[in-house]
Amino acid sequence: MSNLHGLSRRALILSLLLIKMLLLRMFQQRVSQQGSHISMSCPQVDSGLVLDAESQLVMGVFLVVWMKFGILSASNVMLAISPYQSMRFAMHEDQPYHKSCYKDFFHPKCDVCKNFIPTNKNGLIEYRAHPFWMQKYCPSHEDDGTPRCCSCERMEPTDIKYITLDDGRKLCLECLTSATMDSPECQHLYMDIQEFFEGLNMKVEQQVPLLLVERQALNEALEAEKSGHHLPETRGLCLSEEQIVRTILKRPTIGPGNRIMDMITGPYKLVRRCEVTAILILYGLPRLQTGSILAHEMMHAYLRLKGYRSLSPQVEEGICQVLSHLWLESEIIAGASGNAASSSASSSSSSAAPTSSKKGAKTEFEKKLGAFIKNQIETDSSVEYGDGFRAGIQAVEQYGLRSTLDHMRLTGSFPY
Ligand SMILES: [Zn+2]
Ligand SMILES: [Zn+2]
Ligand SMILES: [Zn+2]
Repeated sequence: MSNLHGLSRRALILSLLLIKMLLLRMFQQRVSQQGSHISMSCPQVDSGLVLDAESQLVMGVFLVVWMKFGILSASNVMLAISPYQSMRFAMHEDQPYHKSCYKDFFHPKCDVCKNFIPTNKNGLIEYRAHPFWMQKYCPSHEDDGTPRCCSCERMEPTDIKYITLDDGRKLCLECLTSATMDSPECQHLYMDIQEFFEGLNMKVEQQVPLLLVERQALNEALEAEKSGHHLPETRGLCLSEEQIVRTILKRPTIGPGNRIMDMITGPYKLVRRCEVTAILILYGLPRLQTGSILAHEMMHAYLRLKGYRSLSPQVEEGICQVLSHLWLESEIIAGASGNAASSSASSSSSSAAPTSSKKGAKTEFEKKLGAFIKNQIETDSSVEYGDGFRAGIQAVEQYGLRSTLDHMRLTGSFPY
């Protein structure tokens, strides 16, 4: 009796194995028929992970039969079920994808930690993105101490080490390539900006010293000034008082851990020969950023030296931002025309490009950075700098720079 039982049981196993082979064969044929279609979207397609509804039904029936007869051990059931589970696929623009391939292609990865951006507690993928650079990152990096570049604002990715300036600011390696690090180096840029002002018929005759300084020196100089209104995060100053400023005489080198070292600073005594004693700029910023701050401060100097009085902060900061914006635009245009002739030479060795004296945005990154700084000026939300700029640029576009300045001198406001 038990023999007979054993025999029929073995027959059942055999017949089920036969069914299994048949079904698998059917299934493989079906997959190979679909193969050409599927591989369009899923290059890693391997045998039979994507099924249409009919095959899924057949496979489902097969599994039910298989398990009902209790022939498979628990581990075999898992083996049989696991391919079935991964058969469920995701659609994208009418194309089926393996779940895993779909994730590879379409699940956003964090540009900072390079992992898939995790889902939040509601099961949704939630990420932050920089509005200009569109750098995507996990929300957690906003408060896990991930540094941002002090110039371009992009976050430091885990596989790249930013430069640490000695006042704690971080600088990305792309901004570093054109960073202005000491006062002598900055003189080329100063000459470019002076030329730019001359070109606008706004020559500043007085020789105003330009000094590159550390953050602490800038803040100390700001406190020593009796008047002046500035952003909490000041990056440039136009001074009117006599004082001693510690300036950077020699550019630092980059030491271990991408920290800068061996910077030589020295005191510089400001003597008052005219309304303006010096222009101070924060060191370590890329050329275009340094230049945009310098153009802004030059305009303050111009207004003071030319006797523009009683301008409201909004009008004064606004017109200074206009000059900054105009200079950036001229640099971007100069870069576009200058690069046409020398693009083949510069693209192959962009990192070796000299950091000063040549006008125009040279590298692709510099062009983008120029557009970024312009965008920052345009979208500034403050009343003095933002609204001031928007009112100023509108007046300049409508009446021209000369008439706008004349109107400002007479009335203290922009023409409307
Ligand atoms: Zn991340
Ligand atoms: Zn940067
Ligand atoms: Zn200002």
